Amino acid sequence: LRPPECAVCGKEFFDEGGLIYFKKRDSDIQWDEKMKKNNMIGHPPYAEWFCGEHIKIAQKYKFMTITDAMQEITKETLK
Ligand SMILES: [Zn+2]
Repeated sequence: LRPPECAVCGKEFFDEGGLIYFKKRDSDIQWDEKMKKNNMIGHPPYAEWFCGEHIKIAQKYKFMTITDAMQEITKETLK
């Protein structure tokens, strides 16, 4: 298994960081239902990996959909 890559900086990491689940969009709810129906497991389209440096920022925006959250996270990391 490959180490996860941070969605912000693309850095591969092993210990620090983790997966953040964002608010589900309609398409994400459909994805969940499809996967459940077919007994499939996969990386949810509403979740992303973040390294130890960026996970704190990502956590602040997880109440948003991934589309909006990634815009805010990108803005904040560019400061
Ligand atoms: Zn990062």
